Amino acid sequence: MTVSAASPPIKSRVLIAGATGFIGQFVAEASLDSDRPTYVLVRPGVATCPSKAEVLKSLHDKGAIILQGLISDRKYMEKILKVHEIDVVISAVGGGNVLDQLALVEAIKAVGTIKRFLPSEFGHDVVRADPVEPGLQMYKEKREIRRLVEEYGIPYTYICCNSIASWPYYDNKHPAHALPPLEHFKIYGDGTVKAYFVAGTDIGKFTMKTVDDVRTINKSVHFRPSNNFYNMNELASLWEKKIGRTLPRVTVTEHDLLAIAAENIIPESVVASFTHDIFIKGCQFNFSINGLDDVEVGTLYPDEPFRTLDECFNDFALKLKDSNKDVGSNGNATPNHVIESLAISEPR
Ligand code: NDP
Repeated sequence: MTVSAASPPIKSRVLIAGATGFIGQFVAEASLDSDRPTYVLVRPGVATCPSKAEVLKSLHDKGAIILQGLISDRKYMEKILKVHEIDVVISAVGGGNVLDQLALVEAIKAVGTIKRFLPSEFGHDVVRADPVEPGLQMYKEKREIRRLVEEYGIPYTYICCNSIASWPYYDNKHPAHALPPLEHFKIYGDGTVKAYFVAGTDIGKFTMKTVDDVRTINKSVHFRPSNNFYNMNELASLWEKKIGRTLPRVTVTEHDLLAIAAENIIPESVVASFTHDIFIKGCQFNFSINGLDDVEVGTLYPDEPFRTLDECFNDFALKLKDSNKDVGSNGNATPNHVIESLAISEPR
């Protein structure tokens, strides 16, 4: 077949595991926005959870093809990767399911046609960062997945997107769902250690840019937007500007964070150990990314802007206004809408 110069590039077929999760949802939406054939793998029974069913319905309405199954089922994964001729596999399974990816990696190796695998990373560079336990255990598991991927010679990209753009609560693993504080700020240490904040939509957008980019094969992709590099004191001042008043600032010491981590309550203690690593030890910037295995998003896509933290905090301010309106008018919050049924594709 002759391909004319005008032929549009063939889009990779993408499979996303964990698309109903916090990070996976952003990635799935960006994949659909990029017009790639997008398959989402969901665990059986997901539609019984109203909020997840709603996410799934929205992805389905935008064109996602829904498959049901577990990444830990190697034979099944092999089958769907082959049957649907998947090119790119993205895993966004949660921190408690990192080792489920072992079977997925085996399936990818067995199929042998996957052009890129993005394991569930979406945070810090797990080889360089060194949080206290129990956060360290999750990093050890992510490192184990990396080791296997590299040993099998599977083409990979590791997304190191740093912090989600929101108030970094030390006990909430999905802080972007929560408004910044309205009573007092809890400031870690002296509040001067900086971190990079990235909007969820940008995590999705830039992740999808990397999947067909030859410059990101077998690299860690670091998200370091210089205009979103804030410390806790600056973050508090930004939010005070949005709400038009100042709030008291309470110090959470290094000792406090370590004590919460040591309680080993999952997931809160995991979040506390990462909070310690970020805002006490400075784990997001205390290493240089000039190595052969690293690339930075701003260098790869200099013309693509990041949403600013200022814009993200405007969104929170709007949410605050809306929530006051919703509850104010009749005392009830907006109802949840649950889907009744979805077309779930089965392997042919
Ligand atoms: P969530 O817990 O929100 O979602 C996990 C998703 O994976 C769910 O859809 C879940 O399905 C699915 N899943 C879990 N196990 C399996 C399996 N065996 N087979 C198929 N699907 C499975 O995860 P997060 O979004 O919190 O975490 C994703 C990644 O992002 C992690 O690596 C985490 O460390 C990182 N992260 C980064 C943050 C940051 O600020 N940079 C913040 C939070 C997470 P089901 O719906 O059935 O449960």
